[in-house]
Amino acid sequence: MPAWLCVTCGVQQRDSAEPPEVCPICADERQYVGWGGQRWTTMAEIAADHALEVREEEPGLFGVGMQPAYAIGQRALLVCTPHGNVLWDCTSLLDDAGLARIGELGGIAAICISHPHFYAASVEFADAFDARILLPRADQEWIQRPSPRIELFEDEAEPLPGLTVARIGGHFDGAAVLHWPAGSDGRGALLTGDTITVVQDRDWVGFMWSYPNYIPLDEATVLEIARRAERFTFDRVYGGWWGRVVVQDGAAAVRRSADRYVARLHGERP
Ligand SMILES: [Zn+2]
Ligand SMILES: [Zn+2]
Repeated sequence: MPAWLCVTCGVQQRDSAEPPEVCPICADERQYVGWGGQRWTTMAEIAADHALEVREEEPGLFGVGMQPAYAIGQRALLVCTPHGNVLWDCTSLLDDAGLARIGELGGIAAICISHPHFYAASVEFADAFDARILLPRADQEWIQRPSPRIELFEDEAEPLPGLTVARIGGHFDGAAVLHWPAGSDGRGALLTGDTITVVQDRDWVGFMWSYPNYIPLDEATVLEIARRAERFTFDRVYGGWWGRVVVQDGAAAVRRSADRYVARLHGERP
């Protein structure tokens, strides 16, 4: 019995003989149903013309993405620590070469995910590597493929010693970031997916309720996101796509981007 994957968002559903009617992730106003209507696929079908790509981002950090890009097109990140590895976010494909490569890098002890758009094939990854999946209770309703490996946390959890996953809200109530203090040569890195998205002008970040449908957040929420991020020490911000990285001075980028956003909400122009 296949675990169907939605073609538009790449999120895997629970096992069922027939695919579900709708993908709840895409039916939500933050996403959209593909222009050709709801379509489903299987991992075997995706594997026929896609491969998993694992590429070093900096010492101890590897990007894990799909080639060519698939669905929302995110790339996940594998954070390597002396206590094991955390996969931050996920992809829709785990192929044999990717499995072997991640295994060489020490496998996966825990999976943490920025928000439901990137749940992807996380249960499949967890099963392959005997990993825990840590998700915020606030987004429990968005879990599409239940698994005994999923553990819910409230505001913060430590997937491995030294790493913190924290719920900071905004894009989803449970939208989270992962703090990796050893990143950026010990100056710290914040892995954000699109909870805090690194924009094309990569000295800046953005915040949205919906990215594809351009629905903004309100002032209080944007300021709260910045406030919750501020308790971490970090230099670098890793967004959810290849190259979407604030290379340095990331904490200041988050602060000035929140201030710019709020100024615009008030009708102020630079
Ligand atoms: Zn979907
Ligand atoms: Zn999203």
